[in-house]
Amino acid sequence: FSSEMAAFRKAFSEAKHIAIITGAGVSAESGIPTYRGAAGQWRKWKAQDLATPEAFSRNPSRVWEFYHYRREMTLIREPNAAHHAIAECEARLSRQGRSVVVITQNIDGLHQRATSKHVLELHGSLFRTRCVSCGKVSANHRSPICDSLKGKGSPDPDVADANIPVINLPRCEDNNCNGLLRPDVIWFGETLDSNVLTPVEKELEICDLCLVVGTSSIVYPAAMFGPQVASRGIPVAEFNIKSTPNTSYFTYHIQGPCGTTLPAALARHNSEVI
Ligand code: NAD
Repeated sequence: FSSEMAAFRKAFSEAKHIAIITGAGVSAESGIPTYRGAAGQWRKWKAQDLATPEAFSRNPSRVWEFYHYRREMTLIREPNAAHHAIAECEARLSRQGRSVVVITQNIDGLHQRATSKHVLELHGSLFRTRCVSCGKVSANHRSPICDSLKGKGSPDPDVADANIPVINLPRCEDNNCNGLLRPDVIWFGETLDSNVLTPVEKELEICDLCLVVGTSSIVYPAAMFGPQVASRGIPVAEFNIKSTPNTSYFTYHIQGPCGTTLPAALARHNSEVI
């Protein structure tokens, strides 16, 4: 172990309420590209330019195809060692009367698939839709646009746009609303849902150890969460393949792929109840 890791392990052994903030980097080793990495591109657009309300008003068909692609691609990927280490840690610590909460910026559902129970999704989910007219949120168990895409193309990144007419895009089925549906995700420039933000703030107030895993720490307000906890004098550990603009606020910086570093960091201590 590095001395940083050894110091983190000591803080971890003493913590009762652990908040784990995760970003796209936690899913990178599952084969899901981060936005700012080399693969953060779909067709000829940057992923960041499609995840906006402006892109959806300009071309809802293209944005739906992008989310269809992300949804289908996520379904064929599996949680990796970092997701599993977090889920196992939550289960083990809960038997000891200690708690773990995951506060994720990801919309891929991989923490839940790894059996994490207490997950707060800050930026929504690929597996829900929201009506732009009435606001109704629904789970989508199959892709909302696969029927519209039939014979018109595929979600693959290297084919041409399917240009689905707006009338054929997914529509609200509630009380004849028929409004246009959108993915239930928070796009760049949109505000977070207070139903999620309020419990997140509470968790940040009560945690006595915080991990910031695989996030570039430049998307607000999530970028503030780690520094906010650190300003209370609580130990915060960053797990990333490189330094970020927030590294200097944190107690520990554990560098490396989190599929390797997290299982080591969260492993059971010899003295621990199983
Ligand atoms: P980001 O793409 O801006 O940054 C990813 C961070 O992860 C970087 O700091 C990078 O150095 C680090 N990283 C990459 N591989 C890693 C690894 N193996 N181990 C540890 N760290 C690694 O992502 P972000 O900060 O989460 O924010 C961008 C926004 O993009 C968020 O709003 C998020 O919702 C969204 N997003 C989500 C997904 C997903 O759901 N999987 C994927 C891409 C983007």
